[in-house]
Amino acid sequence: MSETTLVNFRIDQDTKRSMEGICRDLGMSMTTAFTLFAKKVDRERRIPFDVSLDGTSATGAQSLTIGSNHADPAVIVEDVTRVFGEGAAERRALDGATLTVRRGEFVAIMGASGSGKSTLLHILGGVDAPTAGRVVVDGMDLSTLGADALALYRRHTVGLVYQFHNLVPFLSVRDNVELPVRFDGSRPDPATVAELLDLLDIADCEKSMPSELSGGQQQRVAIARALVSRPAVVLADEPTGSLDRENGEKVVGLLRKVRERFGTTIVLVTHDESVAAAADRVVRISDGRVVDGKE
Ligand code: ADP
Ligand code: MG
Repeated sequence: MSETTLVNFRIDQDTKRSMEGICRDLGMSMTTAFTLFAKKVDRERRIPFDVSLDGTSATGAQSLTIGSNHADPAVIVEDVTRVFGEGAAERRALDGATLTVRRGEFVAIMGASGSGKSTLLHILGGVDAPTAGRVVVDGMDLSTLGADALALYRRHTVGLVYQFHNLVPFLSVRDNVELPVRFDGSRPDPATVAELLDLLDIADCEKSMPSELSGGQQQRVAIARALVSRPAVVLADEPTGSLDRENGEKVVGLLRKVRERFGTTIVLVTHDESVAAAADRVVRISDGRVVDGKE
């Protein structure tokens, strides 16, 4: 990338937030993301703006490979603690959490608000790190991964889905789904993308923009995006939390189909007992500890 690749976009705060979330999850700089889509954005629509980005290049991580051992469980969380803040402000979000998830298993995590569920998912996703304890996902001890390997890990080994969809508002459904592959500098395999769009029942709206979709459709796009790199593990944080019952059930049913089709391990946080009932196992967290269903 030349030093003249200075990208100036103006984007609104919501777009900026969703881009930051996506770039963090996928281990990609904002500059690279915007550079990648500059032409497309120019062509498709002018965006009101307000962000200036420097010309830092991509991570250069593409040549790294990270391996896995299929004999291992998909996820091992061993005595994990995560402390935020210090002194009087100290908060133990996780306090000796232990959990094992088998390959291909669908686990639901339940627990009161503030019990540490999202913190656990962030740590599994490699976007946060424990203060103490060990985390092994797909055979990799996350503490041994450097920055580049972690970026690759986020793009290839795990797929993250949130309550709110984090779709890039100025990209079509198909472009959103292809985003992680494009971030790798690769061309998406059309058959893979077509299969995912079909599986998640969004093939009809592949050319639509996110704002033209229902909440349920948007969430299915987010799931397709999380799956496009064929991750070993999907991490979903209250993916049905903003959907009505019917759409929530549809999303959960599709996650089960995804697991059947690809053998994907699914770790899903939910408040909803009926959503949790669709999982193979329910894990309960209280005050940062796994109190039920740890293996
Ligand atoms: P849950 O998802 O179960 O509602 P979280 O994992 O989000 O819970 O949070 C667990 C606890 O850790 C809460 O008390 C929360 O306020 C605290 N916490 C989470 N993230 C941070 C952070 N970045 N800084 C400070 N405290 C945090
Ligand atoms: Mg949470």
